[in-house]
Amino acid sequence: MKSVFFDYNSTTPVAPEALEAMLPYFSDVFANPSGQTSEMSWQSQTAIKKANLQISELIKCQPHEIIFTSGATESINWVFECFMNQQKHIFISKVDHDAAFQKVYDYEMRLHFTSNTDGSVDLESFKTGLKELKPGSLVSLIWAHNELGTILDLKPLIEEAKKLGHFTHVDATQALGKIDVDFSGLGLDFLSCSAHKLYGPKGVGSLVVNSKTVTGLKPLIAGGGQQSGLRSGTLNTPLIVGFGKAAEIAQNKLSEDQRHFKSLKETFLNEIKGLKFTQNGDLKNSLLNTINITFHDWKSLAPFHLELLPFSVSQSSACSSENNKKRILSCLDIPETGTLRISFGRASSAKNVTALAQKIKEALSGQKTL
Ligand code: PLP
Repeated sequence: MKSVFFDYNSTTPVAPEALEAMLPYFSDVFANPSGQTSEMSWQSQTAIKKANLQISELIKCQPHEIIFTSGATESINWVFECFMNQQKHIFISKVDHDAAFQKVYDYEMRLHFTSNTDGSVDLESFKTGLKELKPGSLVSLIWAHNELGTILDLKPLIEEAKKLGHFTHVDATQALGKIDVDFSGLGLDFLSCSAHKLYGPKGVGSLVVNSKTVTGLKPLIAGGGQQSGLRSGTLNTPLIVGFGKAAEIAQNKLSEDQRHFKSLKETFLNEIKGLKFTQNGDLKNSLLNTINITFHDWKSLAPFHLELLPFSVSQSSACSSENNKKRILSCLDIPETGTLRISFGRASSAKNVTALAQKIKEALSGQKTL
């Protein structure tokens, strides 16, 4: 049987329309978009401007607030670095993605707020911690959790941080394309995201910087002064064009995707009725494409997810180092044994979801224990 992918939070395939949009910019229209000397350069510039607009419509920010990077990891590192260089506090949760958690691992002015067992923020601990921060520190929140699917109720958290004059950053890598994102409406200062989580290409993302509230941002990467000197390096026209097209599709398909994922989730939960399990994460406010679940009857020492091949599900984030893979589960007191992260994508079907549930039942009944 062919591999059946249920790990779309790790990455997504490039949408056919995005691939088609990218192709001319690899070899036909290849001129440097910063060049001033050819028709081709202008064509590249126009294509980048269009992508900028498409992405800004999805994020609901101004086009000039978008700075292209290599992805969310770079964007997060960049924002954190700016605040670390100024000896400001970085206030994050212990269940953040490694891109944030590892960046400040050895930083003395790192403070953590407490997360509830469902991955949401403990508001009291958050408010208490905010008061300990130096003025103008950075509060960073993971909008939609990559492993649990928990979506944070950002508004009250952002308001509390702003009241005390702190800057806010959200890691919207898993949120963008899955839920409504409104950068300007929420009054965020920074947002990080990545194209490959929303059917765009790998290796491109952006940092969005609020032009009304942030001044004097220093570049992480210096060089030829591209992107107003904020992020040097030749702009990667095909990847940016692919990101733009993927953003446009995500915007148009948001409701359709959500309906599809909701129905797949219901199908799966229906199919596993009768098994003993606990669903992890905030069940009232969770990504519709994500199920984090612990099966109580998995007693084997073998990793459950590997027993389900050719169904490809995961136990934790694909982008975490081996040592840190279990950090999030253990932080939230979720047992490693029997826990799976299943994440649906556009190509997932009810038939395959039913087959996955069947495979889980077979694995549970056929497991070898000591
Ligand atoms: N933040 C979150 C929540 C993620 O899920 C990921 C990727 O898994 C990242 C950051 C890092 O993204 P990238 O590897 O595209 O830089």
